[in-house]
Amino acid sequence: MIIVLKPDAPADTADEMLARISKAGLKPLHMPGAERVVLGALGDERVLAELHLESHPAVESVKPILAPYKLVSRELHPHDSVVRIGAMAIGGSAFQVIAGPCAVETHEQTRASALAAKAAGASAIRAGAYKPRTSPYGFSGHGPEGLRILRQVGDELGLPVVTEVMDTADVEVVAAHADALQIGARNMQNFALLRAVGQCGKPVLLKRGMSAKIEELLLAAEYLLAAGNDQVVLCERGIRTFETATRNTLDLNAIPYIKQRSHLPVVVDPSHGTGIRDLVQPMALAAAACGADGLLIEVHENPAAALSDGAQSLYPDQFQALMEALAPVVRAVGRRLG
Ligand code: PEP
Ligand code: MN
Repeated sequence: MIIVLKPDAPADTADEMLARISKAGLKPLHMPGAERVVLGALGDERVLAELHLESHPAVESVKPILAPYKLVSRELHPHDSVVRIGAMAIGGSAFQVIAGPCAVETHEQTRASALAAKAAGASAIRAGAYKPRTSPYGFSGHGPEGLRILRQVGDELGLPVVTEVMDTADVEVVAAHADALQIGARNMQNFALLRAVGQCGKPVLLKRGMSAKIEELLLAAEYLLAAGNDQVVLCERGIRTFETATRNTLDLNAIPYIKQRSHLPVVVDPSHGTGIRDLVQPMALAAAACGADGLLIEVHENPAAALSDGAQSLYPDQFQALMEALAPVVRAVGRRLG
């Protein structure tokens, strides 16, 4: 429920109401605004009805939050959220590009790929130290050593780093090295992981599961917010359909759909969304045009030698060309490259 207080409500009304909400066993939320104070109550709405808050003299209105994802919804939080990952802010007027190789392979490969990403204008580096692989024989990352390399490269280049965490047992070490934690498509509904990452104190990049509906993605994000972490960036990375020409079908419908219903920033990953290097730039431009807040792009210093996702990784000069082509599209939708 959303409880809007009257503009002239006495200063102690909010505290009194929040105490009543919490005493009734509901989760109280306090959202002071410039003009009026808005309160929230999450939980069993029948319990809230019994409090009859609407008849309080300082209350202007009480209305239900219709979306099942309460904290994530725009009903509760009408303005865009801005998520800060190190020095990078996603969700504001800047359009941000996060780039890097699929995996941390060696220090040299990570550094060279990150340098190429930075030179072309990326605002953050992303590379995996823990890689979810379809085959148990695939390269699954260097773990803690990969985290150390990524942190070193990020510090040297002065860019924030984003990296995936796959297991609750690794949340602490990943959070100690990264500026933001990625929850990958395969773990979008790993509820124990969502809860643990929700409590880790670092921003999160939550990727849509390959078979997940948009509502399921938003409910997965709700787990993070409900655990106390509101620094969440959503990522559309393509879904599995009957189409086999591309690795996935990049669902750009999801971008305006989510932006209308949620205050969280949304980035698009056209690398996994297409699986084909030559399709990455056109879909990146389309993502910017339809309202995404940023991109996640795989760039490798030498994609032919990549240990994972080489076929979709851009060569440095292709990434440079993408960034050049992106600038006028970003401007046309009223934003600037971060
Ligand atoms: C990745 O980002 O490299 C990755 C494994 O992505 P996804 O979880 O979207 O498949
Ligand atoms: Mn990858």
